[in-house]
Amino acid sequence: MSRVYNFSAGPAVLPEEVLKEAAEEMLDYQGSGQSVMEMSHRSKVYDKIIKDAEQDLRDLMNIPDNYKVLFLQGGANQFFAEVPMNMMKNKKAGYIITGQWAKKAFAEAKIYGEAVELASSADKTFSYIPDCSDLPITDDMDYVYICENNTIYGTKFKTLPNTKGKDLVSDVSSCFLSEPVDVTKYAVIYGGVQKNVGPAGCVIAIIREDLITDDCLPGTPTMLKWKTQADNDSLYNTPPCYTIYICGKVFKWLKKMGGLEKMKELNEKKAAILYDYLDQSTLFTGTVVKEDRSLMNVPFVCKIDDAEKKAEMEAKFIKEATEAGFVNLKGHRSVGGMRASIYNAMPIEGVEKLVEFMKKFEKENA
Ligand SMILES: *Cc1c(COP(=O)(O)O)cnc(C)c1O
Repeated sequence: MSRVYNFSAGPAVLPEEVLKEAAEEMLDYQGSGQSVMEMSHRSKVYDKIIKDAEQDLRDLMNIPDNYKVLFLQGGANQFFAEVPMNMMKNKKAGYIITGQWAKKAFAEAKIYGEAVELASSADKTFSYIPDCSDLPITDDMDYVYICENNTIYGTKFKTLPNTKGKDLVSDVSSCFLSEPVDVTKYAVIYGGVQKNVGPAGCVIAIIREDLITDDCLPGTPTMLKWKTQADNDSLYNTPPCYTIYICGKVFKWLKKMGGLEKMKELNEKKAAILYDYLDQSTLFTGTVVKEDRSLMNVPFVCKIDDAEKKAEMEAKFIKEATEAGFVNLKGHRSVGGMRASIYNAMPIEGVEKLVEFMKKFEKENA
């Protein structure tokens, strides 16, 4: 068996320890004689799995009691609709547009009410986070929406926007559990788990209790009402059982690693190795303004003016990197170039070795 260094943006690398444990438990989960894939979601054994997962997440993020934790399906994309369905009492909300995912959430909200663009960084292909200190937020807005870490463009909000007292909704899909957060600053924090937490198939939403009511937009499907999910402890219907089980294992791994403070330290260290190299390279360069750089997703390109030669060199790099065991480095189809996603489970050696490889490639192609 040989494992590669996987820089995929998602689904993405998981801690090897977690995968091994899951393998050991595949045929017989803790003496139950069944795989977690095979057992009833109403069984005592499974009840403990999902309850422990929630408790470990609460411990890691220090989630206050007045927030519910929901394990949902439909991906972040479905949640784009759930936000207006559950929160648009005045049918008006403000969106900060920092990339594709914010744009998609914004477009979805427009189906249900008046979604207002408060700020955007589209003018410079989303390579920065706009100034959000004094946004045109009006009193009748139900919430302000951000995508906190922009997976495709590699930017991250380092300070949260001034929402002028309005509820803040944040998509944290690609920075979930990468560093400590103050949950109380948000009304809703949510993310698909397939980036930094677990396998695909589950969205975790942390929602302030007062927002969970029967007062949803008319026509909201039963399944998409947060109240339905909250009243049933995420077991209204069959949840993504196996994905939740693996997420639970990742939470335990994170606790063992030292929690989110420690992860932040490690993530800063890993990102610095890559950014420091990019900043002095004659061949490669990062695409994001320094102060808004993501710790998780690092897009970069070749510094070659001729577009054709640039594309050729980037293709050559991706091909040779793949052969050397550094996989999924191709940039998102909408931006091109390269992107290294260096989530929690990417070991520091992975980043060190990638940079070594890039140095060698730079020399050979000078
Ligand atoms: C990947 C991603 C999404 C989309 O997630 P799905 O679960 O595929 O719907 C949304 N937002 C962000 C920030 C992402 O990285």
